[in-house]
Amino acid sequence: NSLFSKVEELPRDPILGLTEAFVADKTPHRVNLGVGVYQDENGKVPLLACVKLAEEAMLAKAAPHTYVPIDGYAHYNAAVAKMVFAESCDLANVVTVQALGGTGALKLGAEMVKVATPNAKVWISDPSWENHRALFAAAGFAVETYPYYGADGELDFSGLIATLEKIPAGDVVLLHACCHNPTGLDLSQDQWRQIAKVVRARGLTPFLDTAYMGFAEGLETDAFSVRLFASDGGPLFVSFSFSKSLSLYGERVGALSVLTANPQERSRVLSQIKRIARITYSSPAGHGAAAAAAVLADPALRRQWDEELGAMRARIKKMRQLLADKLAERVPGRDFTYIVRQNGMFSYSRLTKPQAVLLREKYAVYALDSGRICVAALNEKNIDYVAESIAKVMV
Ligand code: PLP
Repeated sequence: NSLFSKVEELPRDPILGLTEAFVADKTPHRVNLGVGVYQDENGKVPLLACVKLAEEAMLAKAAPHTYVPIDGYAHYNAAVAKMVFAESCDLANVVTVQALGGTGALKLGAEMVKVATPNAKVWISDPSWENHRALFAAAGFAVETYPYYGADGELDFSGLIATLEKIPAGDVVLLHACCHNPTGLDLSQDQWRQIAKVVRARGLTPFLDTAYMGFAEGLETDAFSVRLFASDGGPLFVSFSFSKSLSLYGERVGALSVLTANPQERSRVLSQIKRIARITYSSPAGHGAAAAAAVLADPALRRQWDEELGAMRARIKKMRQLLADKLAERVPGRDFTYIVRQNGMFSYSRLTKPQAVLLREKYAVYALDSGRICVAALNEKNIDYVAESIAKVMV
């Protein structure tokens, strides 16, 4: 009877499980559309040139690997706050703390919400990124959902608003700032305004998860939702990630921002977030954040980044169009324009679960059971085969 004899085996992560099955699959033409990373036209995760240049300059300096402050590098935090909020609010009221990727930012934010409003419920979209529910539940919150994906495959905006109008004051509403994961369905600027109005009128706390800024229309346009909520003075939580936009996945580069009412509040909130960071990982990692800060600080690197981000965005859009066109050719009478209207890395392809299973088992094309596919995993070499296979399971 060992210490761990009663420890329960948990089900494996569905996405990682899919990747394991993909790796074990020996079919030569297999395609993994289950992942959540951007891949270039050769199916490779890119090292952005702006990051490489920043890293080369860092290497040449040969600085020692000392500890990073608990709340991260001050110049990184300031640069992120400026980029995300611009002039939308008084930055003297904003706490921005370097975090271990977007997930780390969500975790800091969840624990900070717990300090501020311990009895709040947290409302996430139905569906949402799988980790949202687990992360907020683990922080001790009851997690509820608001409608998002309609039965017709489009955004259920009236359902969303009707639910927001019933949520009790003080509860937290988690929204995807852009490039909704998993559906790819985003809110229009007008819809954002309506949401902000209801959220503020009811005294709800908005928490915007920003993992894909720059992948929908560009950094400025994609910041619209965050800046809209910031412009009325808050309160507001924003989790931010550079994993995708700087292709810095493994470096864990993100930030949590909290918009407070005044500098005194800001100082108190910062002290709490520092405590949370201190007891969780003590201080964040240095390298990736230093590289990101260098890209933001240097005008030439910043221009380079804009270009590279623009190229990633354009490639995804091109793949969306190609996939929609190729499916329309092969499945007559069916509309696939929704694929083009969606944003970001993902598409809710409208594959049913049995179709996704068949696609995997018969054609070695790996999509999630929900029908979510990663459009950024498509390229000129695999798209014909993918379209052909999807068309076969759809008809
Ligand atoms: N939020 C959403 C909606 C995501 O899709 C992801 C990553 O897939 C994250 C947060 C977390 O990002 P990171 O890898 O930086 O922790």
